[in-house]
Amino acid sequence: MRVAIIGAGLAGLTVARQLQSAGVAIQVFDKGRGVGGRTSTRRSDSWVFDHGAQYFTVRDPAFRAFLNSELPADCFAPWAARFARLEGNRITTEHPSTPRLVGVPGMNSICQALALQLPVQTGVQITRLNATATGWTLEDTLEHSYGPFEWVVCSTPPAQGAHLLSGHGPLASRLANVDMLPCLSLMIAPSENVELPADGIQCDHPVLGWAARNHSKPGRPPATALVIQSNHAWAQAHQEDPASSVCQAIREAAEQAFDIDLATPSHESLHRWLYAAPAQPLKDLALLDQTTRLAACGDWCAAGKLEGAFQSGLACAEQILGR
Ligand SMILES: Cc1cc2nc3c(=O)[nH]c(=O)nc-3n(C[C@H](O)[C@H](O)[C@H](O)COP(=O)(O)OP(=O)(O)OC[C@H]3O[C@@H](n4cnc5c(N)ncnc54)[C@H](O)[C@@H]3O)c2cc1C
Repeated sequence: MRVAIIGAGLAGLTVARQLQSAGVAIQVFDKGRGVGGRTSTRRSDSWVFDHGAQYFTVRDPAFRAFLNSELPADCFAPWAARFARLEGNRITTEHPSTPRLVGVPGMNSICQALALQLPVQTGVQITRLNATATGWTLEDTLEHSYGPFEWVVCSTPPAQGAHLLSGHGPLASRLANVDMLPCLSLMIAPSENVELPADGIQCDHPVLGWAARNHSKPGRPPATALVIQSNHAWAQAHQEDPASSVCQAIREAAEQAFDIDLATPSHESLHRWLYAAPAQPLKDLALLDQTTRLAACGDWCAAGKLEGAFQSGLACAEQILGR
């Protein structure tokens, strides 16, 4: 059996690792320059910014077992941070009951390590699936063809998966009905020595959703690197605004909320996440059509977090293997 997996985020790489260890021939494709999807890290001069997922938690014993067996021990570590919550003008300290872990030296380290022993082609955007007499073939933006494959797994965000699966059975309409919420992520290195009131701050605020001292995570360089993210509602209202005005609005909101000065930063950049988190995950762990031999998985099936992406990828692989 040959299986194509579109998407090298945690869900797709989980499918790939599980199938490969069961002896299945797999091929993974991702349109990004590297693997990891929303667990991404941007490096710029002396700064490192995790501008997608900030940390992860492990509650499911299967996720813990997977991390321990599939990853080198130094690839992730607890983030021994000071956490807080901003509500109105009040900042209160938080003591999370579950340890918060991060990839080391960046959030993308986890997917990079998972991809090491896998056949992954990055920089390949799949645009079309074709049903042929010998199985599925895949086409990319340059009209290169790949395959045939017995199964195709779409581990992309649902809108992209719905597009690829359209015209090939009932899955596309299930994916098209999943709403994903956006997020605008500001990466900023202040010119002055600026301190946030905590290392990671969950914000209940008209503009902000989260603020972090990224340099407080283990294995990062010491230069102050702040990641300040909008909340989903604000991102929905402002996702088309020019980058300069989005940066300014998030920067000013943070200055006012945390009583800090972020004027004339040494570095400032913005990432727009159109599909940051599912509004309402399906709770169907993975979608499979045994007739067409097409499947879809991702955090939007289980829960909008790394653990959800893993659970969905695991369920998808188990079902393909008929377990
Ligand atoms: C701003 C932000 C903050 C977050 N914070 C946290 C957090 O603190 N904790 C937590 O646990 N989770 C967090 N998350 C969520 C977490 O990042 C996701 O749940 C998880 O990474 C999703 O993994 P996935 O494999 O399902 O999807 P993705 O990581 O999105 O992977 C999908 C992959 O498919 C590829 N792709 C798409 N279309 C194509 C195509 N046509 N051809 C080829 N490749 C394609 C993409 O390039 C991508 O790499 C956050 C996410 C964001 C955006």
